Amino acid sequence: MAKGGYFLGIDGGTTGTTVLVLDENWQVVGKGYRRHQMNIPRSGWMEQDPEVLWEDLLFAAKAALEELGLSRSQLEGRILGLGLDHQGETCLVWDRKTGKPLSMAINWQDRRTAQAADRLAANSNFLIRERTGLHADAYFSATKWKWILENDPQLAKRAQNGEICAGTLDSWFVYKMTGGRVHITDPSTASRTMLYNIHTGDWDDDLLALLDLPRAMLPAIRTSAQLYGCTEPDCFLGLRVPVSGVVVDQQAALFGQGCFKNGMVKTTYGTGCFMLMNTGQRPVLSTGGLLTTVGWNLGNGDVFALDGGVYTAGSAVNWLRDKAKLIESASDTQKMACAVKDNGGVYFVPAFVGLAAPHWDPYARGTMVGISADTTREHMVRATLESIAYQVRDNLDAMRTDSGLEIPIMRVDGGMVANPFLMQFQADVLGIPVDVPIISETSALGAAYLAALGVGYFGKTSEIEGNWQLERRYEPAMGEDQRQTLLYNWHRAVERSLAWQEH
Ligand code: ADP
Repeated sequence: MAKGGYFLGIDGGTTGTTVLVLDENWQVVGKGYRRHQMNIPRSGWMEQDPEVLWEDLLFAAKAALEELGLSRSQLEGRILGLGLDHQGETCLVWDRKTGKPLSMAINWQDRRTAQAADRLAANSNFLIRERTGLHADAYFSATKWKWILENDPQLAKRAQNGEICAGTLDSWFVYKMTGGRVHITDPSTASRTMLYNIHTGDWDDDLLALLDLPRAMLPAIRTSAQLYGCTEPDCFLGLRVPVSGVVVDQQAALFGQGCFKNGMVKTTYGTGCFMLMNTGQRPVLSTGGLLTTVGWNLGNGDVFALDGGVYTAGSAVNWLRDKAKLIESASDTQKMACAVKDNGGVYFVPAFVGLAAPHWDPYARGTMVGISADTTREHMVRATLESIAYQVRDNLDAMRTDSGLEIPIMRVDGGMVANPFLMQFQADVLGIPVDVPIISETSALGAAYLAALGVGYFGKTSEIEGNWQLERRYEPAMGEDQRQTLLYNWHRAVERSLAWQEH
Protein backbone atom coordinates (compact mmCIF):
# COMPACT_ATOMS: atom_id res chain seq x y z
CA MET A 1 0.00 0.00 0.00
CA ALA A 2 1.33 3.44 -0.95
CA LYS A 3 2.79 5.48 1.91
CA GLY A 4 1.55 8.98 2.42
CA GLY A 5 -2.03 7.78 2.48
CA TYR A 6 -4.87 9.00 4.66
CA PHE A 7 -8.07 7.71 6.20
CA LEU A 8 -11.23 9.72 6.79
CA GLY A 9 -13.19 9.14 10.00
CA ILE A 10 -16.61 10.77 9.95
CA ASP A 11 -18.47 11.02 13.26
CA GLY A 12 -22.05 12.01 12.46
CA GLY A 13 -23.18 12.89 15.98
CA THR A 14 -26.46 14.33 17.18
CA THR A 15 -25.26 17.86 17.86
CA GLY A 16 -22.66 18.01 15.12
CA THR A 17 -20.53 16.15 12.62
CA THR A 18 -16.78 15.81 13.19
CA VAL A 19 -14.47 14.67 10.43
CA LEU A 20 -10.89 13.58 11.09
CA VAL A 21 -8.18 13.03 8.51
CA LEU A 22 -5.67 10.53 9.88
CA ASP A 23 -2.30 9.73 8.38
CA GLU A 24 -0.77 6.27 8.29
CA ASN A 25 0.76 6.82 11.74
CA TRP A 26 -2.81 7.44 12.97
CA GLN A 27 -2.05 11.03 13.82
CA VAL A 28 -4.82 13.60 13.27
CA VAL A 29 -3.68 15.82 10.39
CA GLY A 30 -7.00 17.48 9.59
CA LYS A 31 -10.20 18.15 11.49
CA GLY A 32 -13.54 19.69 10.53
CA TYR A 33 -16.71 20.25 12.50
CA ARG A 34 -20.20 21.49 11.74
CA ARG A 35 -22.96 21.93 14.33
CA HIS A 36 -26.44 20.66 13.43
CA GLN A 37 -29.83 22.30 13.74
CA MET A 38 -32.47 20.39 15.68
CA ASN A 39 -36.11 21.17 14.90
CA ILE A 40 -38.70 20.76 17.63
CA PRO A 41 -41.99 21.21 15.78
CA ARG A 42 -44.05 20.07 18.79
CA SER A 43 -43.39 19.10 22.36
CA GLY A 44 -41.68 15.69 22.37
CA TRP A 45 -40.88 15.79 18.64
CA MET A 46 -37.28 16.16 17.47
CA GLU A 47 -36.24 16.05 13.85
CA GLN A 48 -33.45 17.11 11.53
CA ASP A 49 -33.51 17.90 7.82
CA PRO A 50 -31.69 15.04 6.05
CA GLU A 51 -30.47 17.29 3.23
CA VAL A 52 -29.03 19.75 5.75
CA LEU A 53 -27.33 16.92 7.66
CA TRP A 54 -25.75 15.81 4.40
CA GLU A 55 -24.61 19.38 3.62
CA ASP A 56 -23.17 19.59 7.14
CA LEU A 57 -21.21 16.39 6.58
CA LEU A 58 -19.77 17.75 3.33
CA PHE A 59 -18.89 21.03 5.03
CA ALA A 60 -17.00 19.27 7.85
CA ALA A 61 -15.23 16.90 5.43
CA LYS A 62 -14.15 19.81 3.24
CA ALA A 63 -12.83 21.74 6.25
CA ALA A 64 -10.88 18.69 7.46
CA LEU A 65 -9.32 18.08 4.04
CA GLU A 66 -8.43 21.75 3.63
CA GLU A 67 -6.27 21.51 6.75
CA LEU A 68 -4.10 19.07 4.84
CA GLY A 69 -3.28 21.80 2.36
CA LEU A 70 -3.23 19.43 -0.63
CA SER A 71 -4.84 20.13 -3.97
CA ARG A 72 -7.51 17.83 -5.35
CA SER A 73 -5.04 16.24 -7.75
CA GLN A 74 -2.53 15.71 -4.93
CA LEU A 75 -5.28 13.98 -2.93
CA GLU A 76 -6.18 11.71 -5.84
CA GLY A 77 -5.85 8.09 -4.75
CA ARG A 78 -4.33 8.97 -1.38
CA ILE A 79 -7.47 8.68 0.71
CA LEU A 80 -7.37 4.97 1.27
CA GLY A 81 -10.73 4.61 2.97
CA LEU A 82 -13.63 6.43 4.56
CA GLY A 83 -15.40 5.21 7.71
CA LEU A 84 -18.63 6.61 9.02
CA ASP A 85 -20.31 6.47 12.38
CA HIS A 86 -23.68 7.97 13.16
CA GLN A 87 -26.42 8.67 15.70
CA GLY A 88 -27.84 5.15 15.63
CA GLU A 89 -31.62 5.05 15.79
CA THR A 90 -32.40 8.34 13.97
CA CYS A 91 -34.13 7.41 10.70
CA LEU A 92 -35.91 8.57 7.55
CA VAL A 93 -37.25 7.39 4.21
CA TRP A 94 -36.41 8.63 0.71
CA ASP A 95 -37.27 7.98 -2.92
CA ARG A 96 -35.10 5.16 -4.21
CA LYS A 97 -34.89 6.63 -7.71
CA THR A 98 -34.58 10.39 -7.15
CA GLY A 99 -32.92 10.29 -3.73
CA LYS A 100 -35.37 12.91 -2.50
CA PRO A 101 -36.16 12.64 1.23
CA LEU A 102 -39.78 11.71 1.87
CA SER A 103 -39.62 12.42 5.59
CA MET A 104 -37.53 14.33 8.07
CA ALA A 105 -34.85 12.41 9.96
CA ILE A 106 -36.77 11.54 13.14
CA ASN A 107 -34.30 11.81 15.98
CA TRP A 108 -33.63 9.03 18.48
CA GLN A 109 -34.87 11.36 21.24
CA ASP A 110 -38.22 11.92 19.52
CA ARG A 111 -41.17 10.61 21.58
CA ARG A 112 -43.99 10.89 19.01
CA THR A 113 -44.33 7.12 18.91
CA ALA A 114 -44.26 6.62 22.70
CA GLN A 115 -47.85 5.37 22.90
CA ALA A 116 -47.41 3.03 19.95
CA ALA A 117 -44.29 1.67 21.63
CA ASP A 118 -46.17 1.24 24.92
CA ARG A 119 -48.81 -0.83 23.12
CA LEU A 120 -46.08 -2.93 21.53
CA ALA A 121 -44.45 -3.36 24.92
CA ALA A 122 -47.73 -4.50 26.45
CA ASN A 123 -48.37 -7.12 23.74
CA SER A 124 -44.99 -8.19 22.45
CA ASN A 125 -42.23 -7.17 24.83
CA PHE A 126 -41.11 -10.75 25.39
CA LEU A 127 -40.77 -11.42 21.65
CA ILE A 128 -38.92 -8.15 21.05
CA ARG A 129 -36.59 -8.71 23.96
CA GLU A 130 -35.80 -12.27 22.99
CA ARG A 131 -35.22 -11.52 19.29
CA THR A 132 -33.54 -8.10 19.45
CA GLY A 133 -32.06 -7.76 22.95
CA LEU A 134 -33.93 -4.44 23.33
CA HIS A 135 -37.02 -3.28 25.23
CA ALA A 136 -39.94 -2.12 23.08
CA ASP A 137 -39.39 1.63 23.07
CA ALA A 138 -39.95 4.69 20.89
CA TYR A 139 -36.18 5.30 21.04
CA PHE A 140 -35.49 2.67 18.35
CA SER A 141 -36.12 3.16 14.62
CA ALA A 142 -38.98 0.67 14.03
CA THR A 143 -41.90 2.66 15.42
CA LYS A 144 -40.59 5.82 13.73
CA TRP A 145 -40.62 4.17 10.29
CA LYS A 146 -44.08 2.80 11.06
CA TRP A 147 -45.24 6.30 11.96
CA ILE A 148 -43.90 7.70 8.67
CA LEU A 149 -45.74 5.08 6.60
CA GLU A 150 -48.94 5.34 8.61
CA ASN A 151 -49.09 9.04 8.00
CA ASP A 152 -48.95 8.71 4.23
CA PRO A 153 -50.89 5.77 2.72
CA GLN A 154 -49.24 6.46 -0.65
CA LEU A 155 -45.83 5.92 0.92
CA ALA A 156 -46.93 2.67 2.52
CA LYS A 157 -47.93 1.37 -0.91
CA ARG A 158 -44.71 2.52 -2.54
CA ALA A 159 -42.73 0.93 0.28
CA GLN A 160 -44.32 -2.45 -0.52
CA ASN A 161 -43.23 -2.02 -4.14
CA GLY A 162 -39.66 -1.27 -3.16
CA GLU A 163 -39.85 2.27 -4.51
CA ILE A 164 -38.65 3.89 -1.31
CA CYS A 165 -35.59 3.38 0.84
CA ALA A 166 -35.78 3.36 4.61
CA GLY A 167 -32.58 4.04 6.42
CA THR A 168 -30.78 5.26 9.46
CA LEU A 169 -28.30 8.07 8.80
CA ASP A 170 -25.47 5.73 7.78
CA SER A 171 -27.66 4.37 4.99
CA TRP A 172 -28.65 7.88 3.94
CA PHE A 173 -25.09 9.23 3.88
CA VAL A 174 -23.68 6.20 2.05
CA TYR A 175 -26.50 6.46 -0.50
CA LYS A 176 -25.67 10.17 -1.00
CA MET A 177 -21.91 9.61 -1.20
CA THR A 178 -22.20 6.87 -3.76
CA GLY A 179 -24.58 8.80 -5.99
CA GLY A 180 -27.55 6.64 -5.00
CA ARG A 181 -25.95 3.33 -5.92
CA VAL A 182 -25.58 1.75 -2.49
CA HIS A 183 -28.30 1.15 0.14
CA ILE A 184 -26.71 -0.64 3.09
CA THR A 185 -26.31 -0.65 6.83
CA ASP A 186 -24.22 -2.66 9.29
CA PRO A 187 -25.26 -5.05 12.10
CA SER A 188 -24.52 -2.55 14.90
CA THR A 189 -26.97 -0.12 13.32
CA ALA A 190 -29.50 -2.81 12.47
CA SER A 191 -29.41 -3.89 16.11
CA ARG A 192 -30.77 -0.44 17.09
CA THR A 193 -33.85 -0.64 14.88
CA MET A 194 -35.83 -3.24 16.92
CA LEU A 195 -36.15 -5.29 13.70
CA TYR A 196 -32.83 -7.17 13.77
CA ASN A 197 -32.68 -10.72 15.04
CA ILE A 198 -29.46 -10.95 17.05
CA HIS A 199 -29.49 -14.74 16.77
CA THR A 200 -29.82 -15.02 12.97
CA GLY A 201 -28.05 -11.77 12.02
CA ASP A 202 -30.88 -10.70 9.72
CA TRP A 203 -34.07 -8.63 9.69
CA ASP A 204 -36.71 -10.60 11.61
CA ASP A 205 -39.80 -11.44 9.51
CA ASP A 206 -42.08 -11.78 12.55
CA LEU A 207 -41.13 -8.33 13.80
CA LEU A 208 -41.50 -6.84 10.31
CA ALA A 209 -45.00 -8.35 10.15
CA LEU A 210 -45.82 -7.13 13.65
CA LEU A 211 -44.92 -3.57 12.68
CA ASP A 212 -46.28 -3.85 9.15
CA LEU A 213 -42.97 -2.81 7.62
CA PRO A 214 -41.95 -4.29 4.24
CA ARG A 215 -38.52 -5.85 3.98
CA ALA A 216 -38.24 -4.31 0.49
CA MET A 217 -37.62 -0.85 1.93
CA LEU A 218 -34.85 -1.85 4.32
CA PRO A 219 -31.13 -1.61 3.54
CA ALA A 220 -29.01 -4.69 2.91
CA ILE A 221 -27.03 -5.65 6.01
CA ARG A 222 -23.30 -5.73 5.32
CA THR A 223 -20.43 -6.11 7.78
CA SER A 224 -19.06 -3.04 9.60
CA ALA A 225 -15.82 -3.11 7.60
CA GLN A 226 -15.86 -3.94 3.90
CA LEU A 227 -15.86 -2.08 0.61
CA TYR A 228 -19.46 -0.97 0.09
CA GLY A 229 -18.67 1.19 -2.93
CA CYS A 230 -16.78 4.37 -3.78
CA THR A 231 -17.82 7.97 -3.39
CA GLU A 232 -19.05 9.55 -6.60
CA PRO A 233 -16.77 12.59 -7.26
CA ASP A 234 -19.76 14.71 -8.34
CA CYS A 235 -21.41 14.03 -5.01
CA PHE A 236 -18.39 14.05 -2.69
CA LEU A 237 -16.01 16.99 -3.02
CA GLY A 238 -14.69 15.83 -6.39
CA LEU A 239 -13.09 12.78 -4.81
CA ARG A 240 -13.39 9.05 -5.43
CA VAL A 241 -12.82 7.38 -2.06
CA PRO A 242 -13.53 3.79 -0.97
CA VAL A 243 -16.38 3.74 1.58
CA SER A 244 -15.42 0.87 3.82
CA GLY A 245 -16.58 1.31 7.43
CA VAL A 246 -20.03 1.84 8.99
CA VAL A 247 -20.99 1.62 12.67
CA VAL A 248 -23.08 3.38 15.34
CA ASP A 249 -21.30 6.22 17.17
CA GLN A 250 -21.03 4.62 20.63
CA GLN A 251 -19.87 1.37 19.11
CA ALA A 252 -17.35 3.38 17.07
CA ALA A 253 -16.05 4.83 20.33
CA LEU A 254 -15.74 1.31 21.80
CA PHE A 255 -13.73 0.36 18.72
CA GLY A 256 -11.67 3.56 18.72
CA GLN A 257 -10.87 2.90 22.38
CA GLY A 258 -9.40 -0.44 21.36
CA CYS A 259 -11.91 -2.41 23.47
CA PHE A 260 -11.57 -5.52 21.32
CA LYS A 261 -11.56 -8.12 24.10
CA ASN A 262 -14.34 -9.52 26.31
CA GLY A 263 -14.84 -7.46 29.43
CA MET A 264 -13.38 -4.24 28.05
CA VAL A 265 -15.56 -1.21 28.77
CA LYS A 266 -15.63 2.37 27.56
CA THR A 267 -17.66 5.19 29.02
CA THR A 268 -18.31 8.44 27.19
CA TYR A 269 -19.09 11.38 29.52
CA GLY A 270 -21.08 14.02 27.66
CA THR A 271 -24.58 15.40 28.14
CA GLY A 272 -25.38 11.86 29.28
CA CYS A 273 -23.04 8.93 29.84
CA PHE A 274 -22.90 6.14 27.30
CA MET A 275 -21.34 2.87 28.39
CA LEU A 276 -20.59 -0.22 26.35
CA MET A 277 -18.95 -3.47 27.36
CA ASN A 278 -17.58 -5.93 24.82
CA THR A 279 -19.08 -9.36 25.59
CA GLY A 280 -17.58 -11.13 22.58
CA GLN A 281 -19.46 -13.39 20.21
CA ARG A 282 -22.18 -14.21 22.68
CA PRO A 283 -25.25 -11.99 23.11
CA VAL A 284 -25.76 -11.55 26.85
CA LEU A 285 -29.40 -10.91 27.76
CA SER A 286 -29.37 -8.67 30.79
CA THR A 287 -31.30 -9.22 33.99
CA GLY A 288 -30.04 -5.89 35.27
CA GLY A 289 -31.86 -3.58 32.85
CA LEU A 290 -29.08 -3.21 30.26
CA LEU A 291 -29.61 -3.56 26.51
CA THR A 292 -27.95 -6.12 24.28
CA THR A 293 -26.50 -4.63 21.15
CA VAL A 294 -24.16 -5.51 18.33
CA GLY A 295 -20.76 -3.83 18.69
CA TRP A 296 -19.58 -4.57 15.16
CA ASN A 297 -19.11 -7.35 12.66
CA LEU A 298 -15.76 -7.79 10.94
CA GLY A 299 -16.89 -10.64 8.73
CA ASN A 300 -16.66 -13.46 11.25
CA GLY A 301 -19.88 -13.01 13.18
CA ASP A 302 -21.41 -10.28 15.28
CA VAL A 303 -19.43 -9.06 18.28
CA PHE A 304 -21.87 -8.13 21.02
CA ALA A 305 -21.92 -5.49 23.71
CA LEU A 306 -23.92 -4.68 26.80
CA ASP A 307 -25.23 -1.15 26.66
CA GLY A 308 -25.80 0.96 29.75
CA GLY A 309 -26.15 4.64 30.25
CA VAL A 310 -26.93 7.62 32.39
CA TYR A 311 -29.44 10.18 31.10
CA THR A 312 -28.12 13.09 33.13
CA ALA A 313 -24.37 13.68 33.44
CA GLY A 314 -22.98 16.85 31.82
CA SER A 315 -26.55 18.15 31.69
CA ALA A 316 -26.52 18.21 35.53
CA VAL A 317 -23.44 20.45 35.34
CA ASN A 318 -25.27 22.62 32.79
CA TRP A 319 -28.16 22.83 35.25
CA LEU A 320 -25.79 24.01 38.01
CA ARG A 321 -24.60 26.72 35.62
CA ASP A 322 -27.76 27.79 33.78
CA LYS A 323 -30.60 27.25 36.25
CA ALA A 324 -29.26 26.85 39.79
CA LYS A 325 -26.55 29.44 39.04
CA LEU A 326 -24.15 27.83 41.50
CA ILE A 327 -21.28 27.99 38.98
CA GLU A 328 -20.32 30.25 36.09
CA SER A 329 -18.72 27.68 33.86
CA ALA A 330 -18.56 23.89 33.78
CA SER A 331 -14.88 23.89 34.69
CA ASP A 332 -15.65 25.74 38.01
CA THR A 333 -16.92 22.41 39.32
CA GLN A 334 -13.35 21.17 39.62
CA LYS A 335 -12.08 23.70 42.15
CA MET A 336 -15.38 23.90 44.02
CA ALA A 337 -15.55 20.12 44.48
CA CYS A 338 -11.94 20.14 45.74
CA ALA A 339 -12.63 23.05 48.12
CA VAL A 340 -14.48 20.74 50.54
CA LYS A 341 -13.00 17.64 52.13
CA ASP A 342 -16.04 15.49 51.34
CA ASN A 343 -19.67 15.77 50.24
CA GLY A 344 -20.74 16.84 53.75
CA GLY A 345 -23.41 14.12 53.72
CA VAL A 346 -25.15 15.61 50.65
CA TYR A 347 -26.32 13.27 47.86
CA PHE A 348 -27.91 14.51 44.65
CA VAL A 349 -29.83 12.17 42.35
CA PRO A 350 -30.12 14.19 39.12
CA ALA A 351 -33.11 12.25 37.80
CA PHE A 352 -34.37 15.22 35.76
CA VAL A 353 -35.97 12.95 33.19
CA GLY A 354 -36.21 9.78 35.24
CA LEU A 355 -33.49 7.18 35.71
CA ALA A 356 -32.07 4.88 33.03
CA ALA A 357 -30.26 1.58 33.56
CA PRO A 358 -30.28 -0.20 35.89
CA HIS A 359 -33.17 1.55 37.69
CA TRP A 360 -35.42 2.34 34.68
CA ASP A 361 -37.86 4.63 36.40
CA PRO A 362 -39.32 7.32 34.13
CA TYR A 363 -41.13 8.77 37.16
CA ALA A 364 -38.03 9.39 39.32
CA ARG A 365 -37.17 13.08 39.69
CA GLY A 366 -34.17 15.07 40.88
CA THR A 367 -33.64 14.77 44.60
CA MET A 368 -31.04 16.29 46.93
CA VAL A 369 -30.84 14.77 50.40
CA GLY A 370 -28.70 15.18 53.51
CA ILE A 371 -28.75 18.99 53.52
CA SER A 372 -27.92 20.54 56.90
CA ALA A 373 -27.23 24.03 58.19
CA ASP A 374 -23.55 23.49 57.28
CA THR A 375 -24.21 22.63 53.63
CA THR A 376 -22.51 24.97 51.16
CA ARG A 377 -22.65 25.50 47.41
CA GLU A 378 -19.43 23.53 47.20
CA HIS A 379 -21.07 20.49 48.78
CA MET A 380 -23.90 20.68 46.25
CA VAL A 381 -21.49 20.97 43.33
CA ARG A 382 -19.45 18.08 44.66
CA ALA A 383 -22.60 15.99 45.14
CA THR A 384 -23.48 16.65 41.50
CA LEU A 385 -20.15 15.37 40.19
CA GLU A 386 -20.24 12.43 42.59
CA SER A 387 -23.71 11.46 41.35
CA ILE A 388 -22.33 10.86 37.87
CA ALA A 389 -19.67 8.51 39.21
CA TYR A 390 -22.21 6.56 41.32
CA GLN A 391 -24.51 6.09 38.32
CA VAL A 392 -21.63 4.76 36.25
CA ARG A 393 -20.75 2.38 39.06
CA ASP A 394 -24.35 1.05 39.17
CA ASN A 395 -24.16 0.32 35.44
CA LEU A 396 -20.77 -1.32 35.73
CA ASP A 397 -22.06 -3.57 38.50
CA ALA A 398 -24.95 -4.63 36.25
CA MET A 399 -22.50 -5.35 33.42
CA ARG A 400 -20.33 -7.45 35.70
CA THR A 401 -23.28 -9.44 37.04
CA ASP A 402 -24.92 -10.01 33.64
CA SER A 403 -21.77 -11.04 31.81
CA GLY A 404 -19.93 -12.81 34.61
CA LEU A 405 -16.81 -11.09 33.26
CA GLU A 406 -14.14 -9.27 35.24
CA ILE A 407 -13.70 -5.60 34.35
CA PRO A 408 -10.06 -4.75 35.02
CA ILE A 409 -10.10 -1.10 33.88
CA MET A 410 -12.46 1.42 32.32
CA ARG A 411 -11.48 3.56 29.31
CA VAL A 412 -13.15 6.95 29.14
CA ASP A 413 -13.75 9.84 26.75
CA GLY A 414 -16.11 12.80 26.23
CA GLY A 415 -16.20 16.42 27.44
CA MET A 416 -16.28 15.65 31.17
CA VAL A 417 -13.00 13.73 31.25
CA ALA A 418 -11.48 17.22 31.43
CA ASN A 419 -12.52 17.17 35.11
CA PRO A 420 -9.77 15.46 37.16
CA PHE A 421 -11.85 15.45 40.36
CA LEU A 422 -14.60 13.50 38.63
CA MET A 423 -12.18 11.04 37.03
CA GLN A 424 -10.32 10.41 40.31
CA PHE A 425 -13.58 10.02 42.20
CA GLN A 426 -14.77 7.65 39.48
CA ALA A 427 -11.69 5.45 39.91
CA ASP A 428 -12.18 5.58 43.70
CA VAL A 429 -15.83 4.59 43.53
CA LEU A 430 -15.19 1.80 41.02
CA GLY A 431 -12.06 0.48 42.68
CA ILE A 432 -10.42 0.04 39.25
CA PRO A 433 -8.22 2.37 37.17
CA VAL A 434 -9.82 4.85 34.79
CA ASP A 435 -7.82 5.46 31.60
CA VAL A 436 -7.97 8.56 29.39
CA PRO A 437 -6.50 8.15 25.88
CA ILE A 438 -4.54 10.77 23.94
CA ILE A 439 -6.97 10.95 21.03
CA SER A 440 -10.27 12.16 22.44
CA GLU A 441 -12.31 11.82 19.21
CA THR A 442 -12.62 8.09 19.72
CA SER A 443 -15.75 7.70 17.55
CA ALA A 444 -14.24 9.23 14.41
CA LEU A 445 -11.06 7.25 15.09
CA GLY A 446 -13.03 4.01 15.44
CA ALA A 447 -14.81 4.69 12.16
CA ALA A 448 -11.48 5.30 10.44
CA TYR A 449 -10.03 2.05 11.86
CA LEU A 450 -13.02 0.16 10.48
CA ALA A 451 -12.45 1.79 7.10
CA ALA A 452 -8.82 0.61 7.21
CA LEU A 453 -9.95 -2.94 8.01
CA GLY A 454 -12.57 -2.70 5.27
CA VAL A 455 -9.98 -2.05 2.56
CA GLY A 456 -7.59 -4.67 3.92
CA TYR A 457 -5.03 -2.15 5.22
CA PHE A 458 -5.30 -4.00 8.53
CA GLY A 459 -6.01 -7.71 8.63
CA LYS A 460 -7.15 -7.97 12.25
CA THR A 461 -7.79 -5.87 15.34
CA SER A 462 -4.57 -6.94 17.04
CA GLU A 463 -2.74 -4.74 14.50
CA ILE A 464 -4.67 -1.73 15.83
CA GLU A 465 -4.42 -2.46 19.56
CA GLY A 466 -0.95 -1.00 19.90
CA ASN A 467 -2.12 2.38 18.57
CA TRP A 468 -4.12 3.11 21.71
CA GLN A 469 -2.08 5.54 23.79
CA LEU A 470 -2.63 6.51 27.40
CA GLU A 471 -2.73 10.17 28.31
CA ARG A 472 -3.55 9.76 31.98
CA ARG A 473 -4.45 6.93 34.33
CA TYR A 474 -6.47 7.57 37.50
CA GLU A 475 -5.67 4.88 40.10
CA PRO A 476 -8.23 4.14 42.83
CA ALA A 477 -7.05 5.52 46.16
CA MET A 478 -10.10 5.06 48.39
CA GLY A 479 -10.47 2.38 51.04
CA GLU A 480 -13.19 -0.25 50.62
CA ASP A 481 -15.05 0.83 53.78
CA GLN A 482 -15.37 4.40 52.61
CA ARG A 483 -16.44 3.26 49.14
CA GLN A 484 -19.17 1.03 50.56
CA THR A 485 -20.44 3.78 52.87
CA LEU A 486 -20.73 6.23 49.97
CA LEU A 487 -22.52 3.66 47.80
CA TYR A 488 -24.85 2.70 50.65
CA ASN A 489 -25.88 6.34 51.08
CA TRP A 490 -26.17 6.88 47.33
CA HIS A 491 -28.59 3.98 47.05
CA ARG A 492 -30.64 5.35 49.93
CA ALA A 493 -30.82 8.64 48.05
CA VAL A 494 -31.87 6.85 44.82
CA GLU A 495 -34.68 5.12 46.74
CA ARG A 496 -36.03 8.52 47.70
CA SER A 497 -36.02 9.81 44.13
CA LEU A 498 -38.01 6.89 42.66
CA ALA A 499 -41.66 7.14 41.58
CA TRP A 500 -41.82 10.81 42.57
CA GLN A 501 -43.83 12.04 39.61
CA GLU A 502 -47.41 10.83 39.89
CA HIS A 503 -48.83 9.23 36.74
P1 ADP B 1 -22.03 16.11 24.04
O1 ADP B 1 -21.19 15.38 23.03
O2 ADP B 1 -23.06 15.27 24.71
O3 ADP B 1 -22.58 17.41 23.54
P2 ADP B 1 -19.48 16.76 25.34
O4 ADP B 1 -18.72 15.49 25.28
O5 ADP B 1 -19.09 17.88 24.45
O6 ADP B 1 -21.05 16.48 25.25
O7 ADP B 1 -19.42 17.25 26.86
C1 ADP B 1 -20.06 18.43 27.25
C2 ADP B 1 -20.61 18.30 28.67
O8 ADP B 1 -19.53 18.17 29.58
C3 ADP B 1 -21.39 19.53 29.05
O9 ADP B 1 -22.59 19.14 29.67
C4 ADP B 1 -20.48 20.26 30.03
O10 ADP B 1 -21.22 20.92 31.04
C5 ADP B 1 -19.63 19.15 30.61
N1 ADP B 1 -18.25 19.60 30.91
C6 ADP B 1 -17.34 20.07 30.04
N2 ADP B 1 -16.18 20.40 30.67
C7 ADP B 1 -16.37 20.09 31.98
C8 ADP B 1 -15.54 20.19 33.16
N3 ADP B 1 -14.29 20.65 33.11
N4 ADP B 1 -16.09 19.79 34.33
C9 ADP B 1 -17.35 19.31 34.39
N5 ADP B 1 -18.16 19.20 33.32
C10 ADP B 1 -17.69 19.58 32.13
